[in-house]
Amino acid sequence: MKYRIEHDRENCIACGSCWSICPEFWEQGEDGKSLLKNNKNNKLVIEEKDLECNKSAAESCPVNVIHIIEEDSENKLI
Ligand code: SF4
Repeated sequence: MKYRIEHDRENCIACGSCWSICPEFWEQGEDGKSLLKNNKNNKLVIEEKDLECNKSAAESCPVNVIHIIEEDSENKLI
């Protein structure tokens, strides 16, 4: 199954949690806010194997600006 990460970057408060937990996918951008690596319009499709890391990052976000959606069903996991 594939999943789509959607990052509401505008409302990121730059706490650093996501890039600490899942540095393979998240980093700090030049403006201080987090950046989803290799994103297109703050979205990225990932494989099942990369779900856990990104889900942990999303769950850690204090302002809930990281969302993960199942590509097929559009079911929103977080
Ligand atoms: S965890 Fe949320 S608020 Fe913190 S840096 Fe990441 S996206 Fe921004």
